[in-house]
Amino acid sequence: MSEQTAKTDVFIALGTNVGDREANLNLAIDALGRLMEVTGKSRLYQSAPMYVTDQPAFLNMAVKGRTSLSAEDLLTGLKDLEEEIGRRPTFRNGPRVIDLDILYYGKDRIDTERLSVPHLRIAERGFVLYPLNDLDPQWQDVRSGKTIAEMVQELGPDEGLEVLS
Ligand code: ATP
Ligand code: MG
Ligand code: MG
Repeated sequence: MSEQTAKTDVFIALGTNVGDREANLNLAIDALGRLMEVTGKSRLYQSAPMYVTDQPAFLNMAVKGRTSLSAEDLLTGLKDLEEEIGRRPTFRNGPRVIDLDILYYGKDRIDTERLSVPHLRIAERGFVLYPLNDLDPQWQDVRSGKTIAEMVQELGPDEGLEVLS
């Protein structure tokens, strides 16, 4: 009898505003295949920088996948990928070659020093909510109990966000 490994549905946010942004995204999405089976990709978005506004515009996407890694090992894998693609530490919310965040890890709620899942700032970020809405509008956020579609509606239009493709 063959044993099946249980896999967890995960959503990852990608962001970049340094260098060849599209190449950074493509490299990252390819490399994500080492950590998960990628089952969906959002459209491509450009967003105005949100917290530190004096920096170049971001490209953003979200990816859906299925992984057999724990959330902690997934985070370690993402941080390794960020470094491999060329991210170097700067200041908080500063420019970066690639940012890879865990938005959801199944229906788990994790609140440790190293990891907050669902990601704490999903509801305020159009550049996260709109890509998520491409992937799974009926997905339920376990912090708020709302669906992604409801969260998008509550956020409303995002003037700084543009669909590129
Ligand atoms: P933000 O969380 O506001 O999007 P950021 O992505 O710019 O900020 P990073 O510099 O990429 O922040 O990461 C800082 C730390 O955030 C990481 O070292 C990691 O331990 C922690 N972290 C907590 N929760 C998550 C999560 N869900 N996904 C990724 N990193 C997380
Ligand atoms: Mg981030
Ligand atoms: Mg991050």
